[in-house]
Amino acid sequence: MATGSKATFHCALCNELAGSVELLPASHPEALSNNPTISIRDFIGIEREVISGDRGELQAALREADPAALYKVERLWAPFYCAECARVYCRRHWQIFPVYDENFYDCSYGYCPENHKRLIDD
Ligand SMILES: [Zn+2]
Ligand SMILES: [Zn+2]
Repeated sequence: MATGSKATFHCALCNELAGSVELLPASHPEALSNNPTISIRDFIGIEREVISGDRGELQAALREADPAALYKVERLWAPFYCAECARVYCRRHWQIFPVYDENFYDCSYGYCPENHKRLIDD
């Protein structure tokens, strides 16, 4: 499929936008190295990653705006989703802790409102 797909996800508690996930076609100006690219924004900064391999499951997850399906494809593409709660939370409802290795940023962990811990960003 030549067109991109986009989905937005809202917080289970406050209904604020928790994140937008878009599959950019290779021809999109923001696509990385002219490859199909996934773009995750409105959660923490903007994350972009080149997609390789089959995109069918990813496209289906975005078409249905299904955070569980998106999480199954790649956990870090649904950083706003808590699998244990099976809910989406916005940035304000996650407590996010960056981890530094020496002085360099390494990754971020988050705690959902039910205190489940997950890797948010790597
Ligand atoms: Zn949770
Ligand atoms: Zn919220």
